[in-house]
Amino acid sequence: MTKFVYSFNEGKKEMKALLGGKGANLAEMTSLGLPIPRGFTITTEACDLFYKKGKIIDEEVLRQVKEKLKELEDVTGKKLGDKKKPLLVSVRSGAAVSMPGMMDTILNLGLNEETVEGLAKNTNNPRFAYDSYRRFIQMFGDVVMGVDHDLFEEVLHLRKEKKGVRYDYELTEEDLKEVINEYKKIILRETDKEFPFDCFEQLKMAIYAVFNSWNNPRAISYRRMNNIFGLLGTAVNVQEMVFGNMGDDSGTGVCFTRNPSTGQNKFYGEFLMNAQGEDVVAGIRTPDSIEKLAEKNPSVYKQLVEIGKKLEKHYKDMQDIEFTVEKGKLFILQTRNGKRTAMAAVKIAVDLVKEGLITKEEALLKVDPESLNQLLHKQLDSKSKREKKLIAKGLPASPGAAVGKVVFSAEKAFDMAQQGEKVVLVRTETSPEDIEGMHAAQGILTARGGMTSHAAVVARGMGKCCIVGCSDIKVSEREKVFEVGDLLIKEGEIISLDGSTGEVFLGEVNLVEPELSGDFGLLMSWADEVRKLKVRTNADTPKDAAQARKFGAEGIGLCRTEHMFFEETRIKAVREMILAETKEGREKALAKILPMQKNDFIELFEIMDGLPVTIRYLDPPLHEFLPKEEKDIQEIAKEMDVSVDVLKKKINDLHEFNPMLGHRGCRLGITYPEISEMQSRAVFEAAAELIKSGKKIIPEIMIPLVGNVKEFEHQKGIVDDVAKKVMKEQNVEIEYSVGTMIEVPRAALTADEIAKLAEFFSFGTNDLTQMTCGFSRDDAGKFLNQYVAMGIYERDPFQSLDKVGVGSLMKIAVEKGKKVRENMKMGICGEHGGDPSTIEFCHQIGLTYVSCSPYRVPIARLAAAQAAVKEKLLNK
Ligand code: PEP
Ligand code: MG
Repeated sequence: MTKFVYSFNEGKKEMKALLGGKGANLAEMTSLGLPIPRGFTITTEACDLFYKKGKIIDEEVLRQVKEKLKELEDVTGKKLGDKKKPLLVSVRSGAAVSMPGMMDTILNLGLNEETVEGLAKNTNNPRFAYDSYRRFIQMFGDVVMGVDHDLFEEVLHLRKEKKGVRYDYELTEEDLKEVINEYKKIILRETDKEFPFDCFEQLKMAIYAVFNSWNNPRAISYRRMNNIFGLLGTAVNVQEMVFGNMGDDSGTGVCFTRNPSTGQNKFYGEFLMNAQGEDVVAGIRTPDSIEKLAEKNPSVYKQLVEIGKKLEKHYKDMQDIEFTVEKGKLFILQTRNGKRTAMAAVKIAVDLVKEGLITKEEALLKVDPESLNQLLHKQLDSKSKREKKLIAKGLPASPGAAVGKVVFSAEKAFDMAQQGEKVVLVRTETSPEDIEGMHAAQGILTARGGMTSHAAVVARGMGKCCIVGCSDIKVSEREKVFEVGDLLIKEGEIISLDGSTGEVFLGEVNLVEPELSGDFGLLMSWADEVRKLKVRTNADTPKDAAQARKFGAEGIGLCRTEHMFFEETRIKAVREMILAETKEGREKALAKILPMQKNDFIELFEIMDGLPVTIRYLDPPLHEFLPKEEKDIQEIAKEMDVSVDVLKKKINDLHEFNPMLGHRGCRLGITYPEISEMQSRAVFEAAAELIKSGKKIIPEIMIPLVGNVKEFEHQKGIVDDVAKKVMKEQNVEIEYSVGTMIEVPRAALTADEIAKLAEFFSFGTNDLTQMTCGFSRDDAGKFLNQYVAMGIYERDPFQSLDKVGVGSLMKIAVEKGKKVRENMKMGICGEHGGDPSTIEFCHQIGLTYVSCSPYRVPIARLAAAQAAVKEKLLNK
């Protein structure tokens, strides 16, 4: 027979999956001998069964509930529904992972017309008894019977008004009796049902409601937003009530053993006298700081602080504790590892090590890598945020904050920034041509696009605040306005973006500086000691490369050379190259680009100072470089000395129906070998120059979009030829390697053939995901949100690697590649390279490094360390 119900003295903290976090911790605290009101927990398996049976509480579960209830009645000497000695209980949810406030709770259960009298007599406090009854009907009516909460509040409010009082506790027994009568009428009117008299029926209905709340929309979206998957359901905790509403010697509160905002090791909390839990949440009365309790009742305060210390030592982490004081006696209702800001997380983890409570490795596991984002970028001040109007929400593509005047074109952004203005670039979507404007802007907001859209990738690379896919807004670049709801925002109006949450505010929100405290540096050094994966960066500009080095990057894993071609001075020559009819014409244009490209590489090599630099050859479809505006077309036609019509025809010829699968990647270098020749020359001449000046440079050349070893062979041939020539010309030896991206499924499947020639692999998981799942990187935003909401994919596969599908191809490629080259260097450079869960996977399949945008480097360092620590723990 499955055991569905556990008394608190039968569980322990390791049983979270079955008893939920709250149940497991109540059991643990019971065994520690702390003052815990007695009770029992109905398991998450019972919740699972409830759903499997079509939302019916199983008979066996009810039988076991009755059995445990009887035990509870025996130890308390009270009985549920008994006129003389009524037992009152709370019924509270609690899943394995804490989901604060998402599911339902019912307090004071077990009251009816008769038991309330018994409670009044036993406590010698009729006012308290009727206050509890009033609270119970209100909560039960709302949570279990579905009656609108406001209807009850209105009655209470009118009664207070009539009596000329401000607070609930100022109402008398008589007032409360009248309120209760009104409440019952409301319930009958709204539900056609009497408020249940039978107390076991009340309990059954409450259990039903808690199970049911597991799948309320709020809880579902909380789980989705926090990537909580694979849980069975919620547990239900039934616990003897203790009362904070028994008078001025009673109360309820919440405390943290350390400050959850700063991490400071100082007891922190709030307390409300003569109240029950929901009063704190409802915000009707402002709680006092916990120091007030120290004044009112020093011995209870002292006991609470001691229990806090004990729990912190026991759980080896900062605790968030709920407590109630009933007539001067302290009870603990809950403890859990407290939620905290990134700053607090880092400080607490480091302090716990210094205090000898945990090891460095345990400390590394205590900080969510993703949360480090908060520490690396300038932030919107949270107080200032609350004072401004939130107008829209999009995908938080790149964290940080941006405050500035709205502009609708990259040129305008650039011009205004030149004049010292702060601007936010707002567009339907961005294109590579916008790069300078994006650079100049404080932040970018687009109506369309997903997490790997152009705007998102580029902004993350720049460490620039960016919100994409903000479908709440409608942008008209032509009219220079965007619409959101019934607001019309014009060019020049100020908005503020929160890139960590995707929130868009109207007006200027204040900014606060990030603080890279000493604790942060210390924690990162511990991470570096244990991780196996190297962490490189995706960088194409000296600025990004320098930033990434500051964050600890150990080389460049991906330099997308095409981004170097968009600068004002270069784009013309690039266009000339593309539009040239002959090889000679192309070579002439490429000759103009060569010195600039060479210079790019010199700068990058110098900044990386001997660390590896992987240069990826030209990748995007050529039409991305082409002029679109009439005035640009005319200018180029003039420059090239051809007619506008001829130029337009050429542009038309280059049009592709499916450019992502078209003339791009190594296909460019194969059909126009002079492009790869120029790029090779730029790399080797740059290397030669630096080597001669005594620097150590080992370029890694990476060929994109290879699917067939012959493509690679062709391109490697060009690289080797040019290398030979340059070495001879310059009379210098250059060590280099040539490898490929694995981003076409065929490349993964034939990795053994490719590895015979390629010296390293780098998984381009953006394209590999696109081609494996068959989802366009640029258009999938339209349906992927729904896919994730429906659970077809747990997470957006462009953000977090689809381990089952794309990951399998990676495993095949690793295996096949290593069969041919045992110690082959393998990395990942798609956007996933900065995602903690993907990084763990990369560690597991034995990659050498991950490469990610500069601002994700610290996140990747910590995630790589966590992967190594977890593996160690697993092998123990
Ligand atoms: C990739 O496809 O994962 C990759 C890194 O290349 P890009 O995003 O430039 O196509
Ligand atoms: Mg790619």
